[in-house]
Amino acid sequence: MSEEIFDLVVIGAGPGGYVAAIRAAQLGMTVAVVEKRGTLGGVCLNEGCIPSKALLDSSELFHLAGHRFSAHGIEVAPPTLNLGQMMARKDDVVKKLTDGIAFLFKKNKIKSVNGTARLAGSDAAGVHKIEVQGGEEIRAKKVLLATGSDPVQLPSLPFDWESVVSAREALSFDKVPEHLLVVGGGYIGLELGSVWLRLGAQVTVVEMLPRLIAGSDGQVAEALLRSLKKQGMRFLLGAKVAGVEKREGSLLARVEVEGGVQEIGCDKVLVAVGRRPLTAGLGLEELGVALENGRVKVDEDYLTSVPGVYAIGDLISGPMLAHKAMEEGAVCVERMRGEPSLVDYGCVPGVCYTWPEAASVGKTEDALKEEGIPYKSGKFNFMGNGRAKCMDETEGFVKVLSDVEGTRLLGVHIFGPRASDMIAEAVTVMSFGGSSEDIALIMHAHPTLSEAMKEAALDVDKRAIHG
Ligand code: FAD
Repeated sequence: MSEEIFDLVVIGAGPGGYVAAIRAAQLGMTVAVVEKRGTLGGVCLNEGCIPSKALLDSSELFHLAGHRFSAHGIEVAPPTLNLGQMMARKDDVVKKLTDGIAFLFKKNKIKSVNGTARLAGSDAAGVHKIEVQGGEEIRAKKVLLATGSDPVQLPSLPFDWESVVSAREALSFDKVPEHLLVVGGGYIGLELGSVWLRLGAQVTVVEMLPRLIAGSDGQVAEALLRSLKKQGMRFLLGAKVAGVEKREGSLLARVEVEGGVQEIGCDKVLVAVGRRPLTAGLGLEELGVALENGRVKVDEDYLTSVPGVYAIGDLISGPMLAHKAMEEGAVCVERMRGEPSLVDYGCVPGVCYTWPEAASVGKTEDALKEEGIPYKSGKFNFMGNGRAKCMDETEGFVKVLSDVEGTRLLGVHIFGPRASDMIAEAVTVMSFGGSSEDIALIMHAHPTLSEAMKEAALDVDKRAIHG
């Protein structure tokens, strides 16, 4: 056992854990991070946000070269796919970024320990002991749990990690599936479905609900469904996969649809029905760390029910998103130091990186109606946006929701090109307590996609110029 008592030990080096560690080091704490996988960066960098976006960007280029270049007057032979190179590029992006975290740890003098950690109680002075499997025991004044989440497994569709797979395997298929069945019409299923669709697979999405991306704006979800159908993705909504039978070299899925059962032949099944917090094996029960709905319960300081033990990210309540975990990581350690930092949970953006993209922040119209909050809305179609025309990307719209007095922006929902970047303006204005009128009054560079945001804000009072 090392003699050193760290100010903070972080368990898990995902976006929540690594940001917390770096921020804590900046604030002068001595920090150690225990991570069980061989590389830093957690799910996000290794098998989530980053590899999925690398493949989305590559497959989008493949699609553009095959289908859209000629409209711009660029005549090329139909592109052929070098999947090995595409995967190698994705792996290289991941490696550069995970190595980057290792570099940042060194720069900030953070001790990085490879192994599976478990809380082993505290001594009379309140110093926590953390056992690292097959390794040393670490001692710290405070412990931050940032162990993230794992994919949910359906009892009717157990993973065999080869033909019935999670997102991790679907990011590394060694050939394009002939028919990929995606179970779950949320962000992950639609993004990975898009990747393989663009690379030539037939893709069928089975979703239990009658719509895509539960909780998102209804008009955005409808527009996304229409667009993906146009791209060739097939959908069975209000349907459920009851089981999969393995046949010689293929799979037969039984899908319960309204009025009966459909059999669908496929060669891969991606189960993307959600993720569950990774609480097992951490020694939480023995220590008495309270859970709520399967997630670690924390107060406004991210302190669990056990003194000195904190938790953030996918492990605690709220949307399972990397940027939410990062914010919580920084705010948690700042609050340990007595700073009055806060995460603004009303302003967490959500993005689905299909093409076009869907991005939103704040309340949806459905939520406003349910909560009985009066509102007015403005909408602007990219069809009327000059830059979108230049880009040949006129599909979609921006929708701005305001309170009736026009003093507060309540929500913004975008379906369109680069919605992921455009949503930042709405997040900024909402975070500063601004209004749709603030957006309407701000000068936006011309010609940019962001002008669609200004026009939608103007449309709240029916004075859009180009609409
Ligand atoms: P994680 O990233 O899960 O990291 C936890 C780490 O803890 C892991 O590395 C794990 O190995 C380690 N660990 C667990 N238990 C132990 C232990 N006992 N001892 C030591 N180490 C341990 N979010 C977005 O915001 N944008 C996106 O575009 C996006 N795309 C995604 C795409 C996919 C395919 C997936 C699967 C997820 C995506 N997400 C996205 C979600 C995002 O990855 C997570 O919300 C985020 O990684 C959560 O961060 P975290 O720090 O809480 O945990």
